[in-house]
Amino acid sequence: MQILVINCGSSSLKADVREHATGEYVAKMVIDRVGSEAATLRFEDEEPTPLPGEVGHKEALEISLTRLLQRLSDPEAITAIGHRVVHGGARFTRPVLIDDQVEAAIEELSALAPLHNPANLAGIRAARALLPSLPHVAVFDTAFHATLPRRARVYALPHELAEDPGLRRFGFHGISHAYVARQAANYLDADMRDLRLITCHLGNGASVCAVEFGRSIETSMGLTPLEGLVMGTRSGDIDPGLLFHLMREYDYSAEELDHLLNHKSGLAGLSGIGNDLRDIEARAAEGDEHCRLAIQVFAHRVRKYIGAYAAIMGGVDAIVFTAGIGENSALMRHRIAQRLDFLGARHDEDRNRELRLPSGPAVERISTPHSRTHLLVARTDESRAIAEATSLIVLKSDAVARAQRPIPVAVSARHIHLTQEAVETLFGPGYQLTPRNDLSQPGQFAAEETLRVVGPKNEFPAVRILGPTRSLNQLEISRTDEFALGIDAPVRASGDVANSPGILLVGPAGELKLEQGVICAWRHIHMTPDDAAHFGVHDRDVVEVAITGGDRDLTFGDVLVRVKDSYRLEMHIDTDEGNAANLGRGATGTLISTEGRAQLQRRATRYDTVDAAAE
Ligand code: ADP
Repeated sequence: MQILVINCGSSSLKADVREHATGEYVAKMVIDRVGSEAATLRFEDEEPTPLPGEVGHKEALEISLTRLLQRLSDPEAITAIGHRVVHGGARFTRPVLIDDQVEAAIEELSALAPLHNPANLAGIRAARALLPSLPHVAVFDTAFHATLPRRARVYALPHELAEDPGLRRFGFHGISHAYVARQAANYLDADMRDLRLITCHLGNGASVCAVEFGRSIETSMGLTPLEGLVMGTRSGDIDPGLLFHLMREYDYSAEELDHLLNHKSGLAGLSGIGNDLRDIEARAAEGDEHCRLAIQVFAHRVRKYIGAYAAIMGGVDAIVFTAGIGENSALMRHRIAQRLDFLGARHDEDRNRELRLPSGPAVERISTPHSRTHLLVARTDESRAIAEATSLIVLKSDAVARAQRPIPVAVSARHIHLTQEAVETLFGPGYQLTPRNDLSQPGQFAAEETLRVVGPKNEFPAVRILGPTRSLNQLEISRTDEFALGIDAPVRASGDVANSPGILLVGPAGELKLEQGVICAWRHIHMTPDDAAHFGVHDRDVVEVAITGGDRDLTFGDVLVRVKDSYRLEMHIDTDEGNAANLGRGATGTLISTEGRAQLQRRATRYDTVDAAAE
């Protein structure tokens, strides 16, 4: 199984194919300057080649994805495509399978992310046209922040505006924050649900996130990615009053302000030499005041957020640095992490300076061994996170599709299985059961013959015998029948009669006192090995089956799976269970989960005693 991940941005497109099991790349490709005459296509470790003429987004995508697929030794191995989508609005709080409605919703959300969503959508459309038969999954940058509490997500505007679902803080970089938070928890050998983390995604775009017990509860970006930290070319937080001042006193238009704050500010604006921190650090070291100030303002802002988020969570277990600057700039990490002792975070400057993250997923510590709060550096890998989310969705939807095949449900009234010896005791020597009608399981029949069943309290005058004869005598009754007869029979799989109560059977030619053999049948599904493969279950698994669409919908847990070549797909329950779900003839159920497997481990011991030949 391989996953193609497409990250189609406004001016660049990244696509890679990964092996699902290992996360290793199979192929990797970047197109720069999409939509311009200078667009180039580059495969990993190769020189860029120009794309022909002035190609638009759509053509660039078609050409490059086709070339990518041509390079694969086995393009058929791709099982799904994951797409990064920047804005999922309030609607998308987790990754989703893309259909026409999802596509339309992403388009509607373009108003909130005019630079990103249209480009993301172009990637989705090109890829869906090229690979129409494969599942496409949208993974949203905003989704991880769907858990922001209201107090963190509203702007303090008049309530009509504050409560407008489109005018709130959404947060971004969620794929990265969630990924490094998981990586950090793994590194600390802890469960995310026990940790308070502050993740600092410091790249060209930058944001901080407070991840409290696995959930994003505060993040520095807002309605748009402009809020918060100082970034490559974005100002981050600014007094909104400054905007009016610039409009009134300096004649800026809304468009000009947008351009100023998104593209001309941040590290690039302050330093005056561009947005690359490597260059800024080099010039600062030579004494350039603008560059020094850019570094100071950047670090100060990150520290301010760390302090704020520690206050919000009432403490912090680890602070995690990631993305281009977070992973590579020891100087910036040093400036940010110094004097965080009051939070219990003591950074180890030697470790910080010497740190080189190994390739692949990596987390390293830059705090001292006794630091109560860990300072970690984690490599982010959004493409890997998208590939993981995509395969999860696809595997889950496969499981749902598989599970949705209906399973016929048959309600068994009380009945008896007999040995040939018992038949002869009750009906006379040499007696053979007379088939009355066939049962659904091949070879099984209901016999003409019935027996009187006598319990300590009551008796049933005519209990049906099922054929053919078996190697064990067994009476299967419901809990209600048990109360009527005055016995207490265990819930057992068929054939498992050890230590079950006995009963008196009375036939026309004689009586038979069973020492044991009365059970309340463990509800079960018969299926063939093909059915089992279809549902993804095994013999003796314990599963759940939902009965829906009736007027007493019910989900049965503890349903035992029985697999044999000779079986026909059917679930068997007793009359109490059938009545509880108000089931009539032709009822069906749906296998909804195999999570009972853990229980199976325990139950298997009970089942192990079964003489399989007994059935
Ligand atoms: P994006 O947000 O575009 O994905 P990245 O996460 O790749 O950005 O971060 C890019 C930034 O990381 C560059 O602009 C550069 O400033 C910074 N960076 C990368 N390597 C180093 C380094 N060795 N030292 C300082 N800064 C670095």
